[in-house]
Amino acid sequence: MTRKMKPESLMMSYGYKPELSEGAVKCPIFQTSTFVFKSAEEGKAFFEVAYGHRSANEGEELGLIYSRINNPDLEILENRLTLWDEAEDCAVFESGMSAITTVLLEFLKPGDLLLISSPLYGGSDHFIKGILPKFGICAAEFRAGQSKEEIIKIVEATGCADKLALIYIETPANPTNDIIDIQGSKEVAEYFSSDNKTVYLAVDNTYMGPLWQHPLKHGADLVLYSATKYIGGHSDVIAGACLGTKELIKRVKGLRTFLGNMASPNTGWLLLRSLETLKARMDIQSFNADKVAQFLNEHKLVEKVYFLGNITEKDGDRFHIKNKQCLSNGGMISFDVKGGEKEAFKFLNSLKLIKLAVSLGSTESLAEHPATMTHVDVEPELRKELSITEKMIRLSVGVENYEDIIYDISQALEAIQ
Ligand SMILES: *Cc1c(COP(=O)(O)O)cnc(C)c1O
Repeated sequence: MTRKMKPESLMMSYGYKPELSEGAVKCPIFQTSTFVFKSAEEGKAFFEVAYGHRSANEGEELGLIYSRINNPDLEILENRLTLWDEAEDCAVFESGMSAITTVLLEFLKPGDLLLISSPLYGGSDHFIKGILPKFGICAAEFRAGQSKEEIIKIVEATGCADKLALIYIETPANPTNDIIDIQGSKEVAEYFSSDNKTVYLAVDNTYMGPLWQHPLKHGADLVLYSATKYIGGHSDVIAGACLGTKELIKRVKGLRTFLGNMASPNTGWLLLRSLETLKARMDIQSFNADKVAQFLNEHKLVEKVYFLGNITEKDGDRFHIKNKQCLSNGGMISFDVKGGEKEAFKFLNSLKLIKLAVSLGSTESLAEHPATMTHVDVEPELRKELSITEKMIRLSVGVENYEDIIYDISQALEAIQ
């Protein structure tokens, strides 16, 4: 094949050889813990490569040993995931949190400084502020809209700028769709790197990936996903992924082997199935989200809409950064109803089609109340500063008929009155 096919064309076949599985057109679930070696010599050779005692010879693939180290469902899934981000390699995990925590533990050591964007996903924020300090790792944070110079000052003000080892960002930020500049963050990483130390940049791309934003192209070293969200896309599996160069993913997989937090064969198989419709699902979700946002923008009971599509030239830098790094307006919309918690709850309790649940990126539309649900752990002061108020609703737009979604939102807004 000479033509370079698009990822969506390869999701049904890439990396799978039917002749190795009785001709089955679909990759079976390799529900096995261990693999038989053809000979003792082969087992020895597999271990040498797996444990890094020697590098693989030309054309030699890592042999199958034990499902904590590798398994066909995971390997094929990892190969397919690399196509969207054009990454060299990928490691899949049993949850987004296990992908994130494994990266933080691999690239940080006691005494190191971590720089994060704020706000982060609640679980990541808790691990960084509640658990990493026990290992002698502290964090400094910056906000969307701060310039490179301001961010450098924040790092220098910690007094341990020379210990900066990793920058970890999430963009767009949840639930306000604030934008962080990936390339700008890379420039900060480079500013603090030296001949004997590389400061790496990791980006949680769950909100926009893997279709609508490709952080590696803007200088990120590692991309992280909660594959529970768009990649899985059916609210029936928890999983995670990390992508980057072969060299960095080798380190991530090394720690994964010993933490034992790889995805199971069944999870791998479910995600392979999900990937076949990923592009179709995400296309419909972003199409629907545009329609829903247009409706909300015009509604008299809606005070403010937080949607990437609402960022215009008037927003200056935000507009340029958005255009540089986002290929779509995404499928997430937050909005403020007129009123407070009472009105927001009345809206949520009146929905008929849209489900009242946290999580995002799935086929069904979901709605939740960030201030009392996903972001309840954020300090009240900070919550206010970030505009996460009692009147805010967060929507994850699904693949239903958009007119039905809008009808449901419309009748629930009317119920407030
Ligand atoms: C859901 C989510 C996570 C955590 O992923 P799990 O699969 O639930 O462990 C991390 N980051 C973001 C942005 C998320 O939305």
